[in-house]
Amino acid sequence: RWEGEAEIDYVFKVVVVGDSAVGKTQLLARFTRDEFALDSKSTIGVEFQTRTLTLHRKRVKAQIWDTAGQERYRAVTSAYYRGALGAMVVYDVTRRATFEHVARWVEELRAHADGSTVVALIGNKADMPAGRREVEADEAARLAEEQGLFFSEASALTGDNVERAFLTLLEEVFAVVS
Ligand code: GDP
Repeated sequence: RWEGEAEIDYVFKVVVVGDSAVGKTQLLARFTRDEFALDSKSTIGVEFQTRTLTLHRKRVKAQIWDTAGQERYRAVTSAYYRGALGAMVVYDVTRRATFEHVARWVEELRAHADGSTVVALIGNKADMPAGRREVEADEAARLAEEQGLFFSEASALTGDNVERAFLTLLEEVFAVVS
């Protein structure tokens, strides 16, 4: 059997949510293809991307869903959340409003997704100059702790922490389902 055809032991659905333009699509592109698309939104309408990896000797297919712009109309459907084992709530460290909406996204997740869904909070665009920053990491870390979420800053542009954030989330999901 070809390596590429190795059997999949688990499929993990992971949804990415957060305000428009925080970098959800780029984070997903970075993790699944190690790319940062300069012509952003080329993936509009695409529902999910996958990446298969080995965790604890099991073949895991991570199926990472993108809202594909639905959040602009506040119309993220319950179908989007259905069956999600993991979720990433993303805000932009240079736009405070996107951080202030995090609680709303977490609520929406809790309302639609399963109670055992593992949630990570990601502060994206950490590459931006310090002067542009509107949210400090320690404030976000406090919120994450209150809400029981894993937290990391990341940059889809440089790739910093993106792999680690997704892998940590997938490891947590693995621990829940296995
Ligand atoms: P989405 O609407 O949440 O899917 O956001 P996109 O992935 O389309 O990104 C929105 C904008 O932010 C685009 O212009 C991206 O090029 C830019 N962007 C995304 N991630 C980063 C990042 O990590 N750093 C910087 N500086 N810009 C980013």
